[in-house]
Formats: sequence, C-alpha cells, structure tokens
Amino acid sequence: MIKVGKIVIYSEKTELARELVTAALEIQGAERSVTAVCINDEEQTRDLAARGIAVVNLSAPGVHPSDTASTARALQQVVDELEAELVLLASNRRGKELAGRLAQRLNAGCLTDVTGMAIQEGRLACTRNTLGGATVATQFIKTARQVIAVAPRTYEPAAEKPGGSVDDMTVSISAASGIKLVETRARDKDSVDITTADLLVVVGQGLENQEDLVRAAALARFLGGEVACTKPVATDRKWLSEERVIGLSGKTCKPQLAILLGISGQVQFTVGIRDARTIIAINNDENAPIFQMADYVMVADLADVLPPL
Ligand SMILES: Cc1cc2nc3c(=O)[nH]c(=O)nc-3n(C[C@H](O)[C@H](O)[C@H](O)COP(=O)(O)OP(=O)(O)OC[C@H]3O[C@@H](n4cnc5c(N)ncnc54)[C@H](O)[C@@H]3O)c2cc1C
Repeated sequence: MIKVGKIVIYSEKTELARELVTAALEIQGAERSVTAVCINDEEQTRDLAARGIAVVNLSAPGVHPSDTASTARALQQVVDELEAELVLLASNRRGKELAGRLAQRLNAGCLTDVTGMAIQEGRLACTRNTLGGATVATQFIKTARQVIAVAPRTYEPAAEKPGGSVDDMTVSISAASGIKLVETRARDKDSVDITTADLLVVVGQGLENQEDLVRAAALARFLGGEVACTKPVATDRKWLSEERVIGLSGKTCKPQLAILLGISGQVQFTVGIRDARTIIAINNDENAPIFQMADYVMVADLADVLPPL
C-alpha cells in the first residue's frame, strides 16, 4: 500500500513548479491528490491549473518569496487545511531554506537536494548524492509528514492537460518575520542561468590564459550556447562568476551538448554534468578521468585546438 497521501507542491519559480507537478504525479499517479500552491501570483496559478491539477490561488498580503519565514507560515496554513502529508519544493537556494523552515513548523522530516523519488514497499525512497558526489544514497523520512526539496531539472516540466481547477484562499500572516523587502533590482553583473542552456562550453584549469577564455566564449556564442566552468576557474582564478560553476557546489546541468575544455573530471564536477545528453571532452592527458564519462574524446592541446574551433 502506498503511504504517501495528499501532496502539496510549491515553488515561486513557475518552471520549477512545473517540474514538481511531474514529480508529484510520478509518485502518486492521481491528479486529485496533487495540489499546487501559488502565492500572490495569478499568472502562475493559470499556468499550473493548465497542467490538469488543483491549484490554490493563495492571497497572502505582504508575503514575498524572498522572505522564506513568512512564506513557510503561509504554506503551513494551506498544508494543514488540506491535511497534506508530503510537500515538494524546489531545491534551489531559496527552496532549500524554505524546506527547513516549513519542516520545522510542520514537525516534518526534511530532505533537500533530492535527485530521484520512488515508492519502495509503501514508503517514499529519495536518492541524494553523498560523500562529495562519489556515491548515491537512498534515504527515507520516518515522520508522517515529509518536506522534500527536489533538485532542479530532475523531472521534465509537466505538459498542458485539461482538468485543472483553481480555489482561492486567503491567509494573514500576523507577526512580522523581521524581514522587510525594501527594493527589488535586477542583478547588475554577469547574470546567467546555465541550467537552462541546451549547449554549454565548459572551461577548466587546462585553459592557460584569458585569451583562451575569450575563444571559448566565442565558440559558445557561435554555437548558440553559454560558457560554464569548473569551480577553481571561478573561485581561484576569478575568471568567471560563481553562477557559472557546475558541480557539487555549483549547478546541475543537463544540456543537449556539453563541450568540456581542459577539465580533469573530478567527481565534484562530474555530478553536475553527467546527465548531459552528449559530452565532448578535450584534454592533453590521455588518462584524464573525464574521458571515462565523455561520449567523444580528443587528446589534444587546447593551444592547437581552440583557435581553429
Ligand atoms: C567539497 C568540494 C566541493 C567541490 N565542488 C566543486 C564543484 O562544484 N565544481 C567543480 O568543478 N569542482 C569542485 N571541487 C573541486 C574539484 O575537486 C576539482 O578540484 C576541480 O573540479 C578541478 O577543476 P579542473 O578540472 O578545471 O582542474 P584540474 O583538475 O587542474 O584539471 C585541469 C585539466 O586540464 C588538462 N590540461 C592542462 N593543460 C591543458 C592543455 N594545454 N590542453 C588540454 N588540456 C589541458 C589537464 O590534463 C587536467 O586534466 C570541489 C572540491 C571539494 C573538496
């Protein structure tokens, strides 16, 4: 018997909420047991209802997604009202913080960075990268209520489907959380979402100088993709922003094509790119570990290869 009851999903980012719809339906298989919560967001309400599920259009005056404490309070009221047992959130930075806060309010067990879910003997089994990405653990939450934050891009976004419904609900969050939104501004430097790119040119420490970086960026532009990097390229060399780092402490990306330039292939990096559809790796060391996971390999010096590329 499946023990997961009603499922509530929430993410302030609509594209991630669509992925959570797929995740919830894969676990439960029945639309009627899945409810999406949209907080002060009519557009997201319409979008998710068009995916065939029930949506709570929650009016929560003064609650902004950046204030995860207030968001957790608002969500708690809906979860209690619906008597939901499982809450699925997105495991982006904000979602992870929200997961902890909400779980604490619900007295629920909590897992973040979950990369897969399945019902095993009536319980929800979650997979997560552990030991620095060297292994994958299957973990279970023991409490009746569960809050799970799912890594972005783990599930495909749900397609449009008839049968959705919208219920309006209002909550008031009385006590102030101590956070006040003063202003919202666009980021002013190097803002990119490498997780949505279909093609990535990823640079590692094998790049000798910044001229090579300019060449790699030109290659990415020419192919219609984005430049990403390994951690030391951003944190030690400071050639690119940390938003472009792939891996355990960076982003998980699933592009159609990843071209890896001068990257050794340490596990902390590969966990973030191993689900790319096709990987091409160029390295001058024929024994580089990255060659074990790449689909196409080229043993060559970047100084020779980058200019013609
Ligand atoms: C807790 C923890 C978390 C971490 N998180 C991350 C993370 O999220 N992302 C991440 O990337 N790393 C992470 N790291 C670091 C990770 O372990 C590696 O150190 C890092 O990925 C190595 O980056 P690299 O492949 O660019 O450099 P290197 O390992 O130095 O590899 C450079 C490669 O370039 C090749 N090369 C050199 N010159 C040339 C040339 N002229 N032409 C062609 N090839 C050449 C070399 O043969 C070598 O294989 C983490 C480490 C720890 C401990």
